[in-house]
Amino acid sequence: MTLEIVEQLRAIVGDRGIVAGDAVSSRTGNLWTGAALNAMALVRPKTTEEVSAVLACCNEAGQSIIPIGGLTGLVEGQEAQSHEIALSMERMNAIEGLDETGRTMAVQSGTILQTVQERAADAGLMFPLDLGARASCTIGGNIATNAGGVRVVRYGMMRNLVLGLEAVLADGTVLDGMSGLIKNNTGYDLKQFFVGSEGTLGVITRAVLRLHEALPGVATAFLSVPNWDAVVTLLRFFDREVAGGVIAYEVMWRDYFELNTGETSDIKSPFNDPVAFYVIVEIPQRTTGTDSDEMEELLARAFEDELIVDGILPKSEEERQRLWEIRESFEPEKRRFDVTHGFDVSLNTDDMDDYVEAVRSNLQRAIPAAKLFTMGHIGDNNIHFSVSDVAKEDMGPVYDIIYEPLRDLSGSISAEHGIGLEKKAYLNVSRTPAEIDMMRAIKRAFDPKNILNPGKVFDLE
Ligand SMILES: Cc1cc2nc3c(=O)[nH]c(=O)nc-3n(C[C@H](O)[C@H](O)[C@H](O)COP(=O)(O)OP(=O)(O)OC[C@H]3O[C@@H](n4cnc5c(N)ncnc54)[C@H](O)[C@@H]3O)c2cc1C
Repeated sequence: MTLEIVEQLRAIVGDRGIVAGDAVSSRTGNLWTGAALNAMALVRPKTTEEVSAVLACCNEAGQSIIPIGGLTGLVEGQEAQSHEIALSMERMNAIEGLDETGRTMAVQSGTILQTVQERAADAGLMFPLDLGARASCTIGGNIATNAGGVRVVRYGMMRNLVLGLEAVLADGTVLDGMSGLIKNNTGYDLKQFFVGSEGTLGVITRAVLRLHEALPGVATAFLSVPNWDAVVTLLRFFDREVAGGVIAYEVMWRDYFELNTGETSDIKSPFNDPVAFYVIVEIPQRTTGTDSDEMEELLARAFEDELIVDGILPKSEEERQRLWEIRESFEPEKRRFDVTHGFDVSLNTDDMDDYVEAVRSNLQRAIPAAKLFTMGHIGDNNIHFSVSDVAKEDMGPVYDIIYEPLRDLSGSISAEHGIGLEKKAYLNVSRTPAEIDMMRAIKRAFDPKNILNPGKVFDLE
């Protein structure tokens, strides 16, 4: 069966379209951990028709198949096992068209996010989705995980940026929904089933993306903030003053800031005195360059109101990038610790301060050696924890400490990374039994033989 299915798939995609045997493990299977690809074979179709034929063949044989993009996912959603086929979209990476009037871009799903951003910028437009993995992650993966990132506060998540989509179902049926229309109320919005589906409902092959007008300039400030109340008030202050225009509002707790400006970091703190919180805020401006009278004026008022202790306005794009590195770089943590575990929870802003303090003290009590680092996209209710120095097999109590309080707080165990395998056991913290049963019914309707990414997000039985 093993050899037979591989040869059937080879007949569909040709020799260049398949990697089999020992060559499979020479490929990376997880860009984050660097682990080798574990799969019976890697299929690399070049067209939607090939994807359709590959899926029909696997469906007929009851062969499970794992769609993969840039392999940057953080919840083991892209993990394959040695009896499974990995389906990579790496050869379907063309930008098919850009409509400047309609402000849309049609792309194949293997296109790298940064390529899309750059193509939009060349046309004086912007594709606003932005995240640290931009140079490796694909549009298909961004859609399948409903990626968020640092500009959600202004432009929404991937769900808000997809106007049309083409996907192939498990039996090979092609759903061609490549409409670029903003308004289209013709029955169920089928594309939204695939957004956040983590490869379990179909293979996303193409998409029409919504572009926005490029901003002439962006003013950035890196701020030290004395307390939580000031963090919350400051966000509303900026958003009000720039008429709902805050582009990014990223908050770092002191533990995270000190890790990323500490001994294992190449960047040192730009501030003299330590404070409780650090914020990167970005607002649009009408002129190019980093100078901003508006930002300076806003900072002066925030200082007067004791919302900030200190602030840095980058003088060049290079300086701005370095300040962002304090927020985005995972290198200092990787250099310092052998094992780190990421969390991305979501809860009401009013509950955040108490929740984070409870997590910190409960963790300290349960596992004194554990290290906790905290930051988040506070404008969209999202906190990221990183827990270091705890072996994977000892993580049970950590999951309980972080996830269980979210039941009573109506919070979410995943704001943006998804469920994959990693959080499957905790899905019921954020979803009711009726909701999970409905998800199972949808999965059965789309993929009756359960061949697409089986066992991810939830078990069928
Ligand atoms: C440094 C770093 C920073 C990150 N920052 C953020 C962040 O700020 N916000 C955020 O939301 N996420 C973030 N992520 C995680 C995020 O989920 C991924 O970066 C990205 O969205 C996944 O895209 P990918 O192409 O790498 O998909 P993969 O990792 O290859 O796959 C992820 C999931 O999507 C499915 N999938 C992939 N392609 C397809 C397809 N064509 N059709 C159907 N299913 C498919 C896979 O089966 C899997 O379940 C970050 C990751 C890293 C490493």
